[in-house]
Amino acid sequence: MAKELNQKQIDEIYQLLINSKEKIENNLKGISSSQDDLSSMDLNDDADFAAASRDYYNDIHIKNQQAEELELINYALMKINKGLFTGICEMCDSEIGMKRLRVKPYAKYCIDCRNHIDKR
Ligand SMILES: [Zn+2]
Repeated sequence: MAKELNQKQIDEIYQLLINSKEKIENNLKGISSSQDDLSSMDLNDDADFAAASRDYYNDIHIKNQQAEELELINYALMKINKGLFTGICEMCDSEIGMKRLRVKPYAKYCIDCRNHIDKR
């Protein structure tokens, strides 16, 4: 039987989640303001435009990734608030482990299941 996280460990994860949430929200703010610039930028030739739109699509890609991460963070925070956050893998019911949760506090799966999903 997998051991659930104790309150102290959950508090630690909670703090990590809040920190990354703030960081991502700030990043996303920065990205959306730089996106407004594309249309107002003074682009002299096609090369300028190509470079600008490359950055632009790069930003969108990063933005999507960050938005996805934010969703996972909010999900984890919701679970903590409801007392449902246990640190147990949602797939195989084994411990995700504090080591992994410190790196990825919003992880829903243990490393084995994560690898399994990624390979599919
Ligand atoms: Zn698992």
